Amino acid sequence: MAIIKCGECLNEISSTTKSCPHCGANFEKKPIITFKRVMKLLLISFFIYFFISAVKSSGDIDYSNNNSTIRDNNERAKNICLKTNLMGDAFDKCLINNGYKLIH
Ligand SMILES: [Zn+2]
Repeated sequence: MAIIKCGECLNEISSTTKSCPHCGANFEKKPIITFKRVMKLLLISFFIYFFISAVKSSGDIDYSNNNSTIRDNNERAKNICLKTNLMGDAFDKCLINNGYKLIH
């Protein structure tokens, strides 16, 4: 056991003490793996997981954030439905059935 100086109040204290008896400064080393860090890592891995699954599903025909892909699909759907002579709601239904998507 050695006598060292407190980093806060500069009083002499024991090197084994966990907190300064004079000013109450805490010398206890914080664990490297804290609950907060674990939660942070979990959150980050969740975000990565969701990001990857979002990218994967955007490659599907049914769901796409790519406007040019949607436009191509819409063009194709229109061409198909224009040939059917459908009107009004039936025409809209035909568009949707052929993969027509509104561009947001
Ligand atoms: Zn102190």
